[in-house]
Order: sequence, then C-alpha cells, then structure tokens
Amino acid sequence: MRKTLLSVNNVSVSYGNVEAVRDVSLDIEPGEIVTIIGANGAGKTTLLNSIMGILPFRGQVQFGANSLERLEIEQRVAAGLFLVPEHRELFTTMTVADNLVLGGFQTSRANAAVAQERIYAMFPRLKERRSQLAGTLSGGEQQMLAMGRALMGEPKLLMLDEPSLGLAPRIVADIFTIIGDLRKAGISVLLVEQNAQAALRVADRAYVMELGSFVLSGSASKIAGDSRVMASYLGFEQDMAHQETAS
Ligand code: ATP
Repeated sequence: MRKTLLSVNNVSVSYGNVEAVRDVSLDIEPGEIVTIIGANGAGKTTLLNSIMGILPFRGQVQFGANSLERLEIEQRVAAGLFLVPEHRELFTTMTVADNLVLGGFQTSRANAAVAQERIYAMFPRLKERRSQLAGTLSGGEQQMLAMGRALMGEPKLLMLDEPSLGLAPRIVADIFTIIGDLRKAGISVLLVEQNAQAALRVADRAYVMELGSFVLSGSASKIAGDSRVMASYLGFEQDMAHQETAS
C-alpha cells in the first residue's frame, strides 16, 4: 500500500478571535492532484499558508515522516513542501534565470544547472525570456516562473494558490496542462482554485470549502457532477433550472 504523502488532521487556523479554518482534514497520496474549491474568503489561502508554516495552526499535519508542527518553514522546504503563493512573489528586479537560480538554492550548482534546463524544457517561454526582468513578464509568464522557481527545489508536494488568477483563458489552459504534467513527473499537487471547472478537470480528488470547513469531498468527477457544486461553482444554474422544468 502507498504511504500517504500529506495528512491534515482536524486543523483549525484563527486570526485573533476569528476562526478562518475550522477543523479540516485532508489526505494526499503520492502522485495525486487534489483541489480545494470554494468562494472568496472560504479559507483556502489560510489553509495553504498554515501548511507551509506562514501561519500557525491547531491540529496535526503529517508530511511524509515529518510532523509539520515541529518544523520551521525552511525545514518544510527541505522536506519537499513548496507553495506558489497567489501573488507569485517573484524577485521582480531580477532576471528569469536568476529567479530560477534562487529557487534551486538548496541544490548543488551542477544539479541546479540540470534542473534549470528541465524547467526550460517544461516552459519554453521562460527560456526565450531568461534574460528579461521578472517584473516585466506578462501575468502568465510570471505564473510560469513562480511555478518554475518552486520546481527548481524538486518538490514532493507543490501547493498552488490560484494559479489561474487574472490570466487569459488560453494561458489558463497552458498552466493546467503543465499541472497535469507534474503528476506524470511524480509530483503531487494541492491546488486551490476559484476556476472550479478547470481545477476539477485536472484533479483526481476535490474538497469543497465553505466558511472555513470542508462541506463535500470525493473524486473530482463526482464533485463536478454534484448539483450543489454545479449551481454554486460551475455556473450551471440555468441548465439545472432548465432540466428541472423539462422533467
Ligand atoms: P480568496 O480566494 O479570496 O483568497 P480564500 O478562500 O483563500 O479566499 P482566505 O484568504 O483564506 O480565503 O480568507 C479566509 C478568511 O480569513 C476571510 O474571512 C478573510 O477575511 C480572513 N482573513 C484572511 N487573512 C486575514 C488576516 N491577515 N487577518 C484577519 N483575517 C484574515
């Protein structure tokens, strides 16, 4: 039997007196793409930030052999846990190549050079623009660079916070193709998205988050077919109303 890669058990996160994440539990198996979908303010970013170590949580999170509550952020990174944050947080006054180099700071110079070529093969656009300053890239290119920089660290689990935010549909399609390719490369993904349709298409399993709690979970295809999810997140209200009238 395969060992669970990430196991989040009864985790809660508060900002002062306000509980933004309430008693959530989630598992990710090696090689899985798992998505958390939910409206603005549901608590998705808060959960990712707490798993990464940016915010403290109550409860228990196991990542491979490590209990995360005992690890600092750097130790979580060293264990193979990476977050691409919603606002990408690139080094905007540095080149594409230098951003990648910094992403591979933990690997030896020789391995970093190999890793950089691997990233360029995955994102040819970044190779073309390797001497350009990160701050002058388009939104889609910045997202690719943020993902590429994290991939330089050879993650076991890559957490992506709203990778499609603000991007044109064609670029969103490219980004989601790359997310699918990560699974083929053996990298697990925890994907937070408001673009539920695209997320459910690429994911193996999904959790639906509302007001800090998971209200639904299951295979991505089951969640995509759930009438409540369709109405709330997939914009199928009219179709459903039409079906109900017809039946
Ligand atoms: P979005 O997609 O809009 O980013 P989200 O599901 O990621 O939404 P969070 O950003 O995690 O949601 O926010 C969850 C709740 O916590 C919201 O009610 C938000 O207002 C609150 N919150 C987030 N950050 C803080 C903070 N620094 N201080 C106080 N409350 C916060």
